[in-house]
Amino acid sequence: MKPARGYAAHDKNSELQPYDFERRELGEHDVLVDILYCGVCHSDVHQIRDDWSGSMYPMVPGHEIMGKVTEVGSGVTKHKQGDTVGIGCLIDSCHECPSCHEDLEQFCSAGPFFTYNSFERDGKTVTQGGYSNIIVTNENFVLKVSPKLKLSAAAPLLCAGITTYSPLKRHGIGKGHHVGIIGLGGLGHMAVKLAVSFGAEVTVFTRSKSKVQDAHDLGAHNVVISKSEEAMAAIIGKLDFILDTVSAQHDINLYLPLLQRDGKFVFVGMPNQPLELNIANIILPRREIAGSLIGGIAETQEMLDYCAEHNILPDVEMIKIQDINTAYERMLRSDVKYRFVIDMQSL
Ligand code: NAP
Ligand code: ZN
Repeated sequence: MKPARGYAAHDKNSELQPYDFERRELGEHDVLVDILYCGVCHSDVHQIRDDWSGSMYPMVPGHEIMGKVTEVGSGVTKHKQGDTVGIGCLIDSCHECPSCHEDLEQFCSAGPFFTYNSFERDGKTVTQGGYSNIIVTNENFVLKVSPKLKLSAAAPLLCAGITTYSPLKRHGIGKGHHVGIIGLGGLGHMAVKLAVSFGAEVTVFTRSKSKVQDAHDLGAHNVVISKSEEAMAAIIGKLDFILDTVSAQHDINLYLPLLQRDGKFVFVGMPNQPLELNIANIILPRREIAGSLIGGIAETQEMLDYCAEHNILPDVEMIKIQDINTAYERMLRSDVKYRFVIDMQSL
């Protein structure tokens, strides 16, 4: 086994603390990665606090991992020592089920096998994430990172990037579409950058007046303070597509009327309580509600290459691992512009 060091939560109430653990020895198709940067996703907070139940402790969170390959197994063909690579939310899949055959490993019927707070395919070993110094991962779940991408900023692409890229692509968002993004946080700010780059006209809904100028700077064409009834009423029936990135309870019935007939409302944010739905809001003008979960490995690679080609990078605030608990408090207050990234050298 390989000794590893990270930061872990030991239960849902305590702060993250330094934690020594072990990574497996390299198998034939494994890659050993020295972790340089890891993004801080709101899902890390949800899982540490057991918001979605079933959390396993000790838990080393982190699924926006950027690093360098330091060793490869004897059968590895995709990566070599010294390569710059990324690891996102997935570390394995069965390769046999219908979803795997369609490159949708996030829906693998034997899994999914997430980077942390999940089981490996043996059904016993609990996975541990990227708030750590090293990780051992099957080569097929290690992404190539173009030298065009600034590494310190690129880590959040591996979750915030793919989670917003995938539904925008799947629903064919592009020129001529009027897109609404609810919540300007880690996912929301990437959704704005990506939807704008696809040619859509983008409206941001935020509760925070302090984010209005930022939203414009990110490329949004319109910004609506969601508390303003007047501003909301002015766009009733005007949008084709809404992406909801909100992490907590909120009233979606305020947003559904903003969609025109056949408009689509897609959730990526995952509050821990059920939301109320006024069914009339979807029946009368035949609107649709859907969800979306990260993206498959091929699509994640496509997104990384797209962002490298179009110079699309998250706006990040670099922190030391020792500041992680304060960073969580700030994230819960929506006080982050727009993604924390941990400099793993600080470990
Ligand atoms: P984040 O950076 O904290 O952003 C969430 C944003 O939601 C906040 O910035 C805030 O925007 C808004 N918000 C927060 N509390 C709110 C409330 N009570 N009412 C209305 N708006 C509120 O979080 P994130 O990392 O982007 O993640 C967002 C959500 O997506 C989380 O639930 C996370 O678990 C989930 N997620 C899902 C997937 C997936 O595959 N589906 C992947 C990753 C993350 P304003 O300040 O602008 O209002
Ligand atoms: Zn995430």
